[in-house]
Amino acid sequence: MFNKILIANRGEIACRVIRTAHQMGIRCVAVYSEADADAMHVAMADEAVCVGPAASKDSYLKMDTILQVAKDTGAQAIHPGYGFLSENAPFVQKCQEAGVVFIGPPADAIKAMGSKSAAKRIMEDAKVPLVPGYHGDDQDPALLKKHSDEMGYPVLLKATAGGGGKGMRVVWSADEFTGALDAAKREAMNGFADDTMLVEKYLTKPRHVEIQVFCDQHGNSVYLAERDCSVQRRHQKVVEEAPAPGMSDELRTAMGEAAVRAAEAIGYVGAGTVEFLLDEDGSFYFMEMNTRLQVEHPVTELITGQDLVEWQLAVASGQTLPISQDDVQINGHAVEVRIYAEDPDNDFLPATGKLEYLRTPEENRYVRVDTGVREGDEVSIYYDPMIAKLIVWDENRERAMQRMSQALTEYRIAGMKTNTHFLKRLIDNPAFRNAELDTGFIEKHETDLF
Ligand code: ADP
Repeated sequence: MFNKILIANRGEIACRVIRTAHQMGIRCVAVYSEADADAMHVAMADEAVCVGPAASKDSYLKMDTILQVAKDTGAQAIHPGYGFLSENAPFVQKCQEAGVVFIGPPADAIKAMGSKSAAKRIMEDAKVPLVPGYHGDDQDPALLKKHSDEMGYPVLLKATAGGGGKGMRVVWSADEFTGALDAAKREAMNGFADDTMLVEKYLTKPRHVEIQVFCDQHGNSVYLAERDCSVQRRHQKVVEEAPAPGMSDELRTAMGEAAVRAAEAIGYVGAGTVEFLLDEDGSFYFMEMNTRLQVEHPVTELITGQDLVEWQLAVASGQTLPISQDDVQINGHAVEVRIYAEDPDNDFLPATGKLEYLRTPEENRYVRVDTGVREGDEVSIYYDPMIAKLIVWDENRERAMQRMSQALTEYRIAGMKTNTHFLKRLIDNPAFRNAELDTGFIEKHETDLF
């Protein structure tokens, strides 16, 4: 096992990684920007090195600088968290060249999943079910339209390089096609400097169900059940829970095995998530694979009793997976909400400010708060405005939701606008309590939620 690692991230995920590393007796080096000199992750680490100005591109994304810090401090491995350099194949390559272990998958696996269309082609070969659609190289608008006409509307245009719900457009009818394609391409070009598009049949009431997979360097793979992330705003997750309500053992096994096939098809190592759309009739379709630890990983930890960061460190240091598929047990129900500095009255635009007052619910075996800020800290314009993840567990969904509702009441934040009231209305919504889930949930219940 490593003696010392560098965490190339900030905020809650940096703090969360440090917590497990310390538990394992591993020393931690933090990197930080000038804006983060007093940040919690810096305070928690054993050493910290400033890597540049506030803007991420000048600090948290500076590959060579961060690698140099790893070498200078004697860190044997780098944990990238999520976001920033976590899915950056050139960075993984650089780590390898520098003799520093990247705690994540090989560069080739990241590359394989980096393009949604290339990923779909690999999955096709691995016999993982796909949403019907076109994901070829020929980008002639007339061809894209022909495929859409043949499939029938609605269709979804998706930027192959896309992420975070950007570069996507639903097209409801043939006459909207050209305008939507132009708009999606523009957004993709601005966001990812690549406007290659794929077309998919748009499912009107799907659920987003994703499988946590883990592979070691010795050819062992397991899946750690699923998470339901159907409650979304603008294709971004708001609530995540595990297990997915109403999931049968057969479906769990089928999806789990498909996810493991997906991971093995690209020689995957470490923690990964295979995202599927689950249709009303029980069919499921591969959407994409995220080649990192996900924001929502804690719900899986709470129902399986495993520490996924500990697993990541074990796998990266060459150990075999701690348990096999038969040993994976699901216990109770867990739910996570993302508490954001944002203004629900102003289209959920990111809010900034100083956390003048902060009271979090008491943490115990039922309640967990993953955060990277303390009272008095600033939520700035520079980074993701997530304040914390609130995660609860109980023996069944109903009790877990009741506990979440209570915990949200106890969460007190002053100094900036947040989404806690919105989250509480969501958790208390009768249709949500009834698990009437699909990705259109928030839109459908808008009048009750806002
Ligand atoms: P991103 O990488 O931007 O997050 P994804 O491909 O993961 O994009 O899709 C994000 C969300 O968009 C999904 O969780 C789902 O809600 C919705 N979505 C994606 N593909 C489809 C589809 N074919 N039909 C209906 N909804 C879809």
